[in-house]
Formats: sequence, C-alpha cells, structure tokens
Amino acid sequence: RPTVGVLALQGAVREHVAMLERAGAHAVPVRREAELSEVDGLVLPGGESTTMSRLLESFELLEPVRERIAGGLPAFGSCAGMILLARQVLDGRPDQQQLGGLDVVVRRNAFGRQVDSFEVDLDFAGVGDGPVHAVFIRAPWVEKAGDGVEVLATVPAGLVPHDPADGAADARIVAVRQGSVLATAFHPEITGDERVHRLFVELVREA
Ligand code: GLN
Repeated sequence: RPTVGVLALQGAVREHVAMLERAGAHAVPVRREAELSEVDGLVLPGGESTTMSRLLESFELLEPVRERIAGGLPAFGSCAGMILLARQVLDGRPDQQQLGGLDVVVRRNAFGRQVDSFEVDLDFAGVGDGPVHAVFIRAPWVEKAGDGVEVLATVPAGLVPHDPADGAADARIVAVRQGSVLATAFHPEITGDERVHRLFVELVREA
C-alpha cells in the first residue's frame, strides 16, 4: 500500500484520511517536514486557501512541499487545495502563496458570487461508470488551463448557478489532471464515493 499524506493544518483532514484508506492507501496526517518526507503522495484538503497558505509558512512547510511537488510528488487538491496547486489565483489575497504543480489559473470563490454552495452530478473522466456527485462550497473554478492539463470534469452551462439577470452562465472546468497532480473544485471526500481517491491512489502507484 502506498503511503499518502494529508496536509493537516486546517480543513477536511479526517474525511480525506478515511477515503484514502478505503481507496487502498495507508493515509497519514502531515504537519511537519519529517512526516512529509515519508509520503508517496500528498492530499491538500479544502478549507481556506489564504489561511492554509499562512499556516504552511508558519509550520515551515511551504518550501518543502513546493520542492517535493516540483520533484514529482503526486498531489491531489480539493477546493482550497486546488487553489494552492494553481500557477495563478484570481481574486486571491495579495500575500497568498502558491505551491505550483498545475498550469492553471483559478478564480477563487468563483461560484460564490452567485451562490455559496451547490451540488450537481458530473461526468468525470477516468473514474469508471456513473456520474460523480459533486459538492461545491465557496468553490473556485479553473478559468484557464495550459496545454499539458487534462480536463476531467466540467459543470455544463445549464447547471452553473447564476443570477438570471446576468444572462446565461458559461460551462466551467472543475476537475483537472496534469501528470500526477490532480485537482477538484469540489469535495469528493464528503460524499462516500471513493472513486476520485482511487484515481489518485492509482496515480501515486504509477509514479
Ligand atoms: N473559498 C475557499 C478558499 O478560497 C475554498 C473553500 C473550500 O475549500 N471549501 O480557499
């Protein structure tokens, strides 16, 4: 079983640990550099990306995590975790730090301008049959994806929440993969469906 860490500074840590175990990994919380050095993959949970960025600095994990991801450590970010992995953040805080790993531009709290949270069933490439139930909580979306980035899931235009006064909303990219880095704008750790975590554990095994 591969050992997969869950960054445990803030956010939905226990939920990710449980799903990773169900998906066949040995899951461990990561709060220190010594713990980071033991893992074959790392999950960055949801929470608040600005807070997590600050905590990464105060726990002296920002550079170590950056270096490991740059060195090929498989990573999976959900929601705030997706924001941390992005090359660039729109509507972030000026002092917000990026871990890198994903050649995407994300917009923070993107859906939240219309509605704080919503749930939809999405087609999700690479997880097998049946839609994935996606729960969005003050979620980002991917505004721009580089050439090396595979789009795994999109919220169709008709299902993007919006203010009818603003006219129709566009389809939005909400799950991507670049090599062994995976990210979802939603929270697969809270729905009881471990297929997205299985996909990540497979990426960890392949790496
Ligand atoms: N809005 C949060 C942020 O900007 C993300 C929310 C979440 O992770 N559920 O970091």
